[in-house]
Amino acid sequence: MNFFSGKQLLDLCKEHELEIWQVMLNRELEASGRTEKEIFADIEHSLEVMFHSIDQGLATYDRSLGGLLTGQSKKLYEELGEEKFYLPDRTLKVVAYAMAVMECNARMGVIVAAPTAGSSGILPAVLKDAKETMNLDTQKLIEAFLTAGAVGLIVMQNASVSGAQGGCQAEIGTSTAMSAAALVHLKGGNARQCLDAASFAYKNIMGLVCDPIAGLVELPCAKRNGLGVLNAMLCADLALLDVRSVVPFDEVVDAMNNVGNTMPVAMRETALGGLAATPTAKGIEHELFSNTELNKGR
Ligand code: SF4
Repeated sequence: MNFFSGKQLLDLCKEHELEIWQVMLNRELEASGRTEKEIFADIEHSLEVMFHSIDQGLATYDRSLGGLLTGQSKKLYEELGEEKFYLPDRTLKVVAYAMAVMECNARMGVIVAAPTAGSSGILPAVLKDAKETMNLDTQKLIEAFLTAGAVGLIVMQNASVSGAQGGCQAEIGTSTAMSAAALVHLKGGNARQCLDAASFAYKNIMGLVCDPIAGLVELPCAKRNGLGVLNAMLCADLALLDVRSVVPFDEVVDAMNNVGNTMPVAMRETALGGLAATPTAKGIEHELFSNTELNKGR
């Protein structure tokens, strides 16, 4: 059982009366030769690492290696409940989770690339929140993980998940799409609704450039993971409302890929364009790298 597009995935679901996670599991069984028990154990381990990276991020105000992240996730988490915010506590908590993973990553902690390090906060954040608020067992989380994986696999086969190739829309966009599909599954949505949610996720940030300050996966990356959480939850809710994507998932992925291919090199992780090219960002870059041992000529 294999699939290379959203349409093939939906056809398999329909033909065999399976959910997306079951088709993905069958594909994994066939492709890897491993048992279901082994695959589930691997996913369970990945989930543990994901949730641990959230805890690690929230545990300290220590600066990141590049110095641009200073424990903003912990600050947000600790100030939940204060009246100064617009968004409800639960939503802000999930944003804090996503940013915590990015801080863990930027402090050289262990994360699960989902699908990349720069977008590694969104899926763990929404899964941890779903686990807590819906009292989910491990089986349901594994199903969500496989659902997210199926979306990521299609994108890997037809486009790119790399900011260096397709801009931030490819990284944050894919993580958001994977997360939105997983959330739809967790609420009992069907396969078509999962892919509709994934389509919405890309549509909402299509064209987003990759412009990390000083070339570090710190800013604006951490905040974009926070935004990805909001986008994923909104897209999931719209799909659960049975709002349909007028443009099918496969065409949305093609569109995202085409936009990425036409992006100037300056907008693809080179730190030559976008926010990275601002005077302030250039000043930070100069300060960071002019002080290295290498640049001192030692
Ligand atoms: S700005 Fe670039 S490095 Fe940062 S999250 Fe987006 S794609 Fe990744």
